[in-house]
Amino acid sequence: MSRLLREKKVITINETLSFGEKPVMIAGPCTIESYEQFYETAKGLKAIGVDVLRGGAFKPRTSPYAFQGLGEEGLEIMSRVGRELNIPVVSELMDETNLAMFENYVDILQVGSRNMYNYALLKVVGRTQKPVILKRGMSATIHEWIMAAEYIASHGNHNIILCERGIRTFDNYTRNTLDLTAVPIMKAETGLPVIVDPSHGTGRRELILPMSKAALACGADGLMVEVHYKPEEALCDGDQSLDLDMYREFYREVMSK
Ligand code: PEP
Ligand code: MN
Repeated sequence: MSRLLREKKVITINETLSFGEKPVMIAGPCTIESYEQFYETAKGLKAIGVDVLRGGAFKPRTSPYAFQGLGEEGLEIMSRVGRELNIPVVSELMDETNLAMFENYVDILQVGSRNMYNYALLKVVGRTQKPVILKRGMSATIHEWIMAAEYIASHGNHNIILCERGIRTFDNYTRNTLDLTAVPIMKAETGLPVIVDPSHGTGRRELILPMSKAALACGADGLMVEVHYKPEEALCDGDQSLDLDMYREFYREVMSK
């Protein structure tokens, strides 16, 4: 099997942030809904100590009738808030024709679970030098996930961060089954940083803290968690989102190892 990704490499987001030393904490709402919602959430997260803000602008929703995100307006809001608070931002790119737009607004590109097999998209992000968070496909084997990362690397971009976000199993008690075995395996197989998204991985807010502790215990390099300043009003994934008080407590607990 041909492979480029084997050696451990430090992945850097900017002059002050790289993966490897302390866990990189990524947080923010599922979806950018308005300037006020994103700014208020982001301001609270920055004060807590978050390293990177997340938020969707182009959303891969199961139903075409569900809120699809604000599109470019959402990216504009994200970029503005990122500059105002001096914090890097990440958002999901769903369509290769939007790459130039994303490059203007975000510091990190995200390839979502549904697009892990979108080889045209992987090739296009492979031609940029922006760091890419590559989420595991919800039914992807370890081998398929490694090969998706190889698609990006073989087109020139080795700045890849892998994200375990849960897989589909026979059990539907949780939204997905968070496969933490993938963390040490993917680190050993690729040398890349591996982060964990316990929000989509479980779909349940009360499971975020214990699964995050477990993720860090098995070597995860960071955590991506959904946080909304008013989860009960969220247009997407409110049930799995923490509010700012919950996230403050969560952050204190996971960082006090
Ligand atoms: C997300 O992080 O916004 C998201 C849609 O997650 P996933 O691709 O893991 O479903
Ligand atoms: Mn979500």
